[in-house]
Amino acid sequence: MKSAYDCVVIGGGPAGSTTAALTAEAGLSTLLLEREKMPRFHVGESLMPEAYWVFERLGLLDKMRNSDFVKKVSVQFVSGSGKESSPFFFKEHDPRECSQTWQVERAKFDHMLFDHAAEKGADTFDNTRVRDVLFDENKRARGVAVESADKSIQEIEAKVVVDATGQQSFIASKLGLRNDRPDLKKAAIWTYYKNAARDPGENGGATIIMHTKSKDAWFWFIPLADDITSIGCVADNQYLLKGRGTPEKVYEEELADCPGLQTRLQNAERTQDYHVAKEFSYTTSQRSGDGWVLVGDAYGFIDPIYSSGVFFAMKTGELAADAIIEGHASNNLSAEQLGKWTADFDAGAKWISKLVDVYYCNEFSFGKFLKGHMHHQGNLTDLLIGRIFTPEAGNIFNDLDPALSEATN
Ligand SMILES: Cc1cc2nc3c(=O)[nH]c(=O)nc-3n(C[C@H](O)[C@H](O)[C@H](O)COP(=O)(O)OP(=O)(O)OC[C@H]3O[C@@H](n4cnc5c(N)ncnc54)[C@H](O)[C@@H]3O)c2cc1C
Repeated sequence: MKSAYDCVVIGGGPAGSTTAALTAEAGLSTLLLEREKMPRFHVGESLMPEAYWVFERLGLLDKMRNSDFVKKVSVQFVSGSGKESSPFFFKEHDPRECSQTWQVERAKFDHMLFDHAAEKGADTFDNTRVRDVLFDENKRARGVAVESADKSIQEIEAKVVVDATGQQSFIASKLGLRNDRPDLKKAAIWTYYKNAARDPGENGGATIIMHTKSKDAWFWFIPLADDITSIGCVADNQYLLKGRGTPEKVYEEELADCPGLQTRLQNAERTQDYHVAKEFSYTTSQRSGDGWVLVGDAYGFIDPIYSSGVFFAMKTGELAADAIIEGHASNNLSAEQLGKWTADFDAGAKWISKLVDVYYCNEFSFGKFLKGHMHHQGNLTDLLIGRIFTPEAGNIFNDLDPALSEATN
């Protein structure tokens, strides 16, 4: 590890590895630091198709195509009564390769991205935790304090510090910039099964979102390689985790209330213990400062339902990298330069946030809405693909907003 870098990236998840790969490729000396030993376990296995363009930019498409990750060509919704929607096949809307994506085992996927950053020229260290981000008297980030595996602490100078620490959101927490979303105080319990029943054919790789009968919770069903399926339950934190006993007990109770899932698990066997996450939705009130910028979950996280997290992580990583590269060239690493992409990003991400609100409005039926507004099927598929940065991206809300307020009044 050198004592000074152009760019220091904290966190070796999809956001950090994307940023580091691109800044290193552009010739900036780049250090990528990850506190865990890679490969490390992580939730969030279902990708959004629009991640395709970031894979292309990174030069990773062939690695993805040749991997054993399950292909995802569709998503499907199952109601509380077990009624299945027709799958949303992305390629029926757009036949190009970019309309498909993958379901990834995150330990393997993140490790691949981390190694890719090294191949592009970044100095990468796992098992190495950042203990502090250092600021000068003008509140400009000037580097990081790093704890190595042998517990020694070393200060590293940086012209830019990128916070890609995920839900730790190191800088936002340190500077008091993190705001919980009171409307999305959710929790999740998830585990993995072998032999869960999948649809035959292409839809076998679909992410399936299943409501429970009470509609108090929903399950994700994400098919992975080796016939393993990730199956997780999401609901209000208060409902799921307060006073109901162990995660296993709560999970089994919700499973018993989810007819769509029971049929799929008849011959399945659980392969892991239960994992729990809670209150993962938040925003940040400032995304960049002089010499620092936030990417990925450190920037904010909406909700798992539409599988936008990893795409957003990689996309913000790409956008931040471009701002850093440009800023280095013009010797301008101000807050404005490093965060110049964030307003446009927020304008697109807002559509996913609005779609999340629609799903959690139990009085509203999406199926019924689409029957009356068939012309929005394509707009909805675009949002599920992640095409949120076009002028038309929010068109569905011209009719959806009035229908939603009618249902809730
Ligand atoms: C219940 C749940 C289900 C989800 N399902 C999906 C899904 O199906 N699809 C999807 O796209 N997204 C999903 N997500 C979201 C997804 O997990 C995240 O959006 C994604 O992992 C963000 O990537 P990241 O690189 O920003 O952060 P992370 O992947 O969390 O990476 C951050 C890294 O920083 C490291 N780090 C933290 N602090 C330090 C430090 N001080 N020093 C050094 N390293 C540090 C961490 O160890 C970690 O490896 C889900 C999230 C939740 C909570």
